[in-house]
Amino acid sequence: MRFKSIASGSNGNCYYVEHEGAAFLIDLGINKSQLARKCNDHGVPLHFVQAILITHSHSDHVRGISAFCRKNPLPLYALPETYQGIIANPTIHHKPDPTLCRNITCGVPFEVAGMKVTAFHVPHDSHDNVGYFIEAGGTNLCLMTDVGEFTPEMKAYIAKADNLVVESNFDQHMLETGSYHFLLKRRILSGVGHSSNATTASVLEQHLTLRTRRVFLCHLSGNNNTPELAYESTHQALRRAGLSPEIVVFSRLQPSLFFEL
Ligand SMILES: [Zn+2]
Ligand SMILES: [Zn+2]
Repeated sequence: MRFKSIASGSNGNCYYVEHEGAAFLIDLGINKSQLARKCNDHGVPLHFVQAILITHSHSDHVRGISAFCRKNPLPLYALPETYQGIIANPTIHHKPDPTLCRNITCGVPFEVAGMKVTAFHVPHDSHDNVGYFIEAGGTNLCLMTDVGEFTPEMKAYIAKADNLVVESNFDQHMLETGSYHFLLKRRILSGVGHSSNATTASVLEQHLTLRTRRVFLCHLSGNNNTPELAYESTHQALRRAGLSPEIVVFSRLQPSLFFEL
């Protein structure tokens, strides 16, 4: 498998997953010209993409889908609730063509682009939110973003991840002392908001195993976090646990390198 972050964070999210010349995107929250430019500049073969998997209906994850799919009518894999959420989301003016939607069910594996994918529930304040566990070529990639809290099921997926993409959204101190309105702070801190550096680090310290080769920290806040703080908190927690996977922090704006999984 080959993997790349194209965009990660509240400005827009998009991940590229490839196996043997076939690929899918997870989320498409940037517009189609940004996508085309980033893919062109960073060598992403967009013509390999056969489908888009959606985590949830927030605009930073879906706002680019409708325009992209008018020219490239790809199947969209999502929970029915997620599609309803996109229809109901007033910030998404152009809705994806409903005939492209392929309903998925948490816990029921499906195959896309030659990869086996299983969705699982991730608590968040959207209509619904899923993580994905992707298996191909004798390895796996597990992605969980926009994490209000970590359920026992999510912890079990963390324990069997060869490669893990997990949210490390904010530094607690920066959020608490920052300029956000208290209602927004309360939403982010709630069980259906986002995961702090400290929470993510502590869950990884308790549940990550020796099998995990890489941890990718994703969806960093631009206002309440820095890549250094996110890295340090997970790095120190994993050192305490005696684990030393590679830790990669995804930039909010720049695509990552390609990773061979
Ligand atoms: Zn998001
Ligand atoms: Zn969200």
